Amino acid sequence: MVINMKIKSVQHIAIIGAGVAGLALAILAIKKGYRVSVYEANAGISTMGAGITLWPNAMFVLKELGLDKAVLKKGGLPAFMQQYDNEGQLKAELDIKELNTLCGYSSVSILRRDLMAILENQLVALGGKIQFSSMIKAQDIEAIAKDVDLVVGADGRMRSVVREYLFDDAVSPRYQGFVNIIGTAQLEGNALANVIQDYRGDAARFGIVSVKGGHCYWAAAWTTQLDKERPVTSWYEEMHERFKAWPERVKAILNHYEPASLNRILVHDLAPLPYWHKDNVIIVGDAAHAPLPTSGQGACQALEDVWYLVNLLNEHNSPESEQAGKTNNLQEVLNRFYQKRIDKTTAAQNVGRQLARSIFAASGDTSASSKPEPSQLGARVSAKQLREFWMQGLPS
Ligand SMILES: Cc1cc2nc3c(=O)[nH]c(=O)nc-3n(C[C@H](O)[C@H](O)[C@H](O)COP(=O)(O)OP(=O)(O)OC[C@H]3O[C@@H](n4cnc5c(N)ncnc54)[C@H](O)[C@@H]3O)c2cc1C
Repeated sequence: MVINMKIKSVQHIAIIGAGVAGLALAILAIKKGYRVSVYEANAGISTMGAGITLWPNAMFVLKELGLDKAVLKKGGLPAFMQQYDNEGQLKAELDIKELNTLCGYSSVSILRRDLMAILENQLVALGGKIQFSSMIKAQDIEAIAKDVDLVVGADGRMRSVVREYLFDDAVSPRYQGFVNIIGTAQLEGNALANVIQDYRGDAARFGIVSVKGGHCYWAAAWTTQLDKERPVTSWYEEMHERFKAWPERVKAILNHYEPASLNRILVHDLAPLPYWHKDNVIIVGDAAHAPLPTSGQGACQALEDVWYLVNLLNEHNSPESEQAGKTNNLQEVLNRFYQKRIDKTTAAQNVGRQLARSIFAASGDTSASSKPEPSQLGARVSAKQLREFWMQGLPS
């Protein structure tokens, strides 16, 4: 059944998942006068994951949310991205300050727990509530969709029940042949010097992102078979063994990381999907277009989704829109959202796969097609190329 709903009747939005996309959407929607209900499976906000680099496109959205200052206060300002080989030879460098100037927004590195706290505090300050410990199931979606005007699945990459509802479980994230061990660390002095360091060896990589006050987050990655049964501690032992002879900064991390911050991720992504909505149910963020971490754009694209979706809802809800005789059918608004977002999110997915393939060699499906994009989101791409890619579609 197609619900031919007038957009002006969208007043109440149910959001499934209180991650980056869900919280940001709730904040912006409340600011624009919508009523929101947020359901989160966990008992609290998930701070799992070490850190995130918010590139200028994400900072644009965070400014729209009124959160740029809070993020800048907690986060660090990386000045360069440097790529090294596993003997410590500098191979390439990107001037992030130049990128920021071209884009008109900063790039900020931040611990995930700090970003999530900023989002949650802002939502609470706006009077928003999160219904924790609410594990929504695919069979619940239809009932929720009857109660509200729009259901937004912001329930992440691995087990999105809203995606399952839209595709009858026919879509699964795909393992891309490598593991990430992630964590945080605090080093003495200015050892990290506001730099994103990317060490690459044979089918292996060690990235270190400086945040602030000696804090950093990092990820060790290497090609491996999918093995979910293997004890997690044995992955950590393998990491120590693999990277023990890598450059001094890598060794410093291995000696100083915060053990409680360690996490093992068998890295999956999604292939681009042919649609993101059915009736009044839509998916955003990782649920719709999870890229590999090598794209560096997952959270940034999730934030862009939020900005586009709320603006499209508002634009078509405006009296001017009605006067101008624009179609204000919800299906068309959601279609338009997909059309506006699919190329850029597909490009981010493809870039992530290309870079993973070039480093880890065992990356999977490469069939996803897209128009030309920077061949790597690494140090060999110029600031100008990155600006064109990341700021595409956003007001400059
Ligand atoms: C190692 C690593 C490094 C990364 N680095 C970066 C980076 O530097 N920059 C960047 O932009 N991105 C980065 N990303 C990607 C980024 O973390 C994700 O793209 C982003 O978190 C997606 O946000 P989301 O809100 O869509 O999903 P999530 O953050 O996964 O949130 C989904 C939420 O939904 C909840 N949920 C799930 N199922 C249900 C249910 N059935 N009912 C209710 N709630 C549910 C979950 O508990 C969770 O809170 C990285 C990812 C990884 C793995």
